[in-house]
Amino acid sequence: MQFEDNYLLKTITTLSIGGPAKKFVIVSSEEELIEALEYAKSQQMPYLIIGGGSNLLISDDGFEGLVIKNEICDLSTSKVGPDSFEVCVKSGTLLQNLVDYTIQNGLSGLQKLTGIPGTVGGAVYGNAGAYGQSISDHIVSVDQLNKSGCAFGYRNSIFKQSKQPILEVTFQLEPGDPDILKKEAEEVLSKRAVRYPPGIKCPGSFFKNLIASEIPEEILNNIPQEKIVYGKLSAGALLEEVGAKGQSLNGIEISPIHGNLFINKDNGTAKDFYDLAKTYAEKVKEKYDITLVPEVQLINLPWDLN
Ligand SMILES: Cc1cc2nc3c(=O)[nH]c(=O)nc-3n(C[C@H](O)[C@H](O)[C@H](O)COP(=O)(O)OP(=O)(O)OC[C@H]3O[C@@H](n4cnc5c(N)ncnc54)[C@H](O)[C@@H]3O)c2cc1C
Repeated sequence: MQFEDNYLLKTITTLSIGGPAKKFVIVSSEEELIEALEYAKSQQMPYLIIGGGSNLLISDDGFEGLVIKNEICDLSTSKVGPDSFEVCVKSGTLLQNLVDYTIQNGLSGLQKLTGIPGTVGGAVYGNAGAYGQSISDHIVSVDQLNKSGCAFGYRNSIFKQSKQPILEVTFQLEPGDPDILKKEAEEVLSKRAVRYPPGIKCPGSFFKNLIASEIPEEILNNIPQEKIVYGKLSAGALLEEVGAKGQSLNGIEISPIHGNLFINKDNGTAKDFYDLAKTYAEKVKEKYDITLVPEVQLINLPWDLN
């Protein structure tokens, strides 16, 4: 394992944005992770553990500390009941590898997460999900914490507060027909391909959708009911209502097909991205009195729209 100085973070984010990390290291075992954490402590340096960099907007000024890229991978299965299997996975494993593994081995419950970039650790941190499935649905434990201790919510978990490293995740899955699981995954992938064409530089959806039952009634009454699907009010729909689709600022464009998808088209900066996102979040606030909250993790970029 090798510590590097002034490592340009744009090289490891799917958005291709991010200034230098003062120190950077890739870890591929728990021993290396412990060593990296001890190094940060000894230098009194803040640290940030990242996975695939697919949910990050990192400041153009970078990060004044140690960035630890987690590549600790392993996967094992054991039978825990007549119709129940436990899959134990290290957090640096790519989520896609886990999903493919479960499909090939006829284990149901993660197949609709196919196509989500990044690692299992990153997915647990933000409780990633798609098409009605969330990574937390079949989690039994994360390290020493049982599922209830993880406080999973919509794109939320205890790890967003605790900032504790996520090392190992255990899932309990039931058998499923591999052909059916594969078909379900292929259907998801073909839908995803429209929104996320290969090579797109983005961090996924920028803002969280809103849980309709949490929105005050007087505000909800002003929102066209068709914008609420499965109990969630789509942030993209609100952004589209204020004209976000297709808008751009320098190298950053809001997708012409989805108002919540901000794309780095041409050497855009974190500042461009931030300013564009804020402009349209303010318009949503003005029109609907709804405060959009970023789903993407902002590093060294305080979000000040309340
Ligand atoms: C094209 C595209 C499509 C996407 N589609 C979806 C989607 O459908 N649904 C969805 O939910 N998301 C989606 N995303 C967002 C993103 O892929 C997920 O949030 C993913 O789970 C992030 O994983 P990561 O390893 O890349 O995390 P990173 O971006 O590296 O990190 C995200 C956060 O997790 C923390 N973290 C990462 N690993 C650890 C660890 N081991 N311990 C503690 N903290 C950790 C980091 O500190 C950071 O705060 C999409 C992104 C892209 C680019």
